[in-house]
Amino acid sequence: MPYARALRCRKCGQEYPLQPINLCDFCFSPLEVSYDYKAMAKALNRKKLTGGPLSMWRYRDMLPVEGKEVDIGTGFTPLVKADNLGRELGLDQLYIKNDCLNPTYSFKDRPVSVAATKAQEFGFDTLACASTGNLAASVAAHAAKANMKAYVFVPADVEPGKLVGTAIYNPVLITVDGSYDDVNRLCAMVAQKYKWGFININLRPYYAEGSKTLGYEVAEQLGWRAPDCVIAPAGSGLSFTRIWQALDELSMLGLIESANTHMYLTQAAGSSPIVNAFKAGSLHVNPVEPDTIVKSIAIGNPADGYFALKIVRESRGGACAVTDEEAIAGMKLLAQAEGIFAEATGGVVIAGLKRLVASGVIKRNELTVAFITGAGPKTQEIVSDIVQPLTTQPTLESLEKVLSVPA
Ligand SMILES: [Zn+2]
Repeated sequence: MPYARALRCRKCGQEYPLQPINLCDFCFSPLEVSYDYKAMAKALNRKKLTGGPLSMWRYRDMLPVEGKEVDIGTGFTPLVKADNLGRELGLDQLYIKNDCLNPTYSFKDRPVSVAATKAQEFGFDTLACASTGNLAASVAAHAAKANMKAYVFVPADVEPGKLVGTAIYNPVLITVDGSYDDVNRLCAMVAQKYKWGFININLRPYYAEGSKTLGYEVAEQLGWRAPDCVIAPAGSGLSFTRIWQALDELSMLGLIESANTHMYLTQAAGSSPIVNAFKAGSLHVNPVEPDTIVKSIAIGNPADGYFALKIVRESRGGACAVTDEEAIAGMKLLAQAEGIFAEATGGVVIAGLKRLVASGVIKRNELTVAFITGAGPKTQEIVSDIVQPLTTQPTLESLEKVLSVPA
C-alpha cells in the first residue's frame, strides 16, 4: 500500500490507522481512505498505467491494497460509442460504459474485489454484506475465489434471478422479511456481534475505493480526458461519488487536463430521496419507503446521499427520477439501439438521459458517458412481455405461411 496513508473522517478530518472501521468516534461520520497524492503523482504516469493488466487492477497503485488481489477478472469493461442511441436521443457523442460485463454481471465486482483483498489482509475468514442482490452475488463469488466463508443478507422480495445468481457460489444466503433498509439495520447489529469482514460496514472505506476504477477506465478509454457529462444511477449514492472522485484525482495527478464534468444522477421515482432533495434545493436527504420494480437501487435511506448531492451541485450537474414504465422503456431502447441488455437500473439511466437531453439540460455536442452497472438477464421477468415468437411446423411451407411470404 504505497500511497494509502490513513482513514480520515469526511466531516471533522480526524485520522485513524488503516483498520476495518468505518465511522468516526467523534462525530460518527463515514471514514474514507486518504492518500499521499504527491508521492503518487511522482510515481505514476499514463504509460505506466497503460502497461498494466487489462483489468481494474491496472490502477492498483491508486487503490488502498497491500496483499495479493482477490481477482475474479473484473474491470476494463468496454466503453461503447453509442451512435444509434445517440441519434435517437439527440446526442452527437454518447458512450456507454458497459459494466454488465463483469464476472458476476454488475459493477459491484469492483468494490468487492478491493474489500475482499483487504479482508484477507486483515485476517478475516468470513465475508458478509447487506445487499439488494448484485452485491450478494459478487461477495459470494469473491469468497469462493478466496476460500472464505460468506454470509449474505437480501430482502425477501429480491428478484429470483438474483437469488440463483448468488446461491450458485454457495454462500450462506439469508432472506430478510423487510426492505433493504431493514436488512441494513439487521446487518449493523450482526456486525457489532460477529467478527466478520462486512463489505459495506466495517470494510466500507475500502469497498468504496473500488468504484473509482469506473472513472479511471472511462478517462483512459476516452484517450485520457474527462467526459463533459456523466449520467449514473444512485442507490446509496456511493459509487456516484467515486466516479466523480476518480476524475478529480486524475486531474490532480496530472494524468488528464481537467475534470469539469457535469455529474447527473438518476433514480426510480418510487425510491428517489436524493432527487427529491435536489428538487427541494436542500442538501438534507429525507428517507422514503421504496416502491419500485427497480430493486437494485431501491434504497430509501441512502448513506451517501448528502455527498452525492454535493457533487451534483458543485459539478453543475443535475438529478432526475423516472417512472417504472420509463425504466422498462429505457431497457428496451438500450437493447434495441445498442445490443446491450441491462437490468432495470440501466433503464433508469437511459430514461433519465432521455429526459435531460429532451429538456435541453444536456446539450447535443457534450461528450456524455452513461454508466450501465448491471446486466438484464438477472431481472428478465420485468420485460417478459416482449417474448412473442412466431411458431411454425418444421416445413418451409408452414414457415412461409407464418411469415406471410407470398408463394
Ligand atoms: Zn469525525
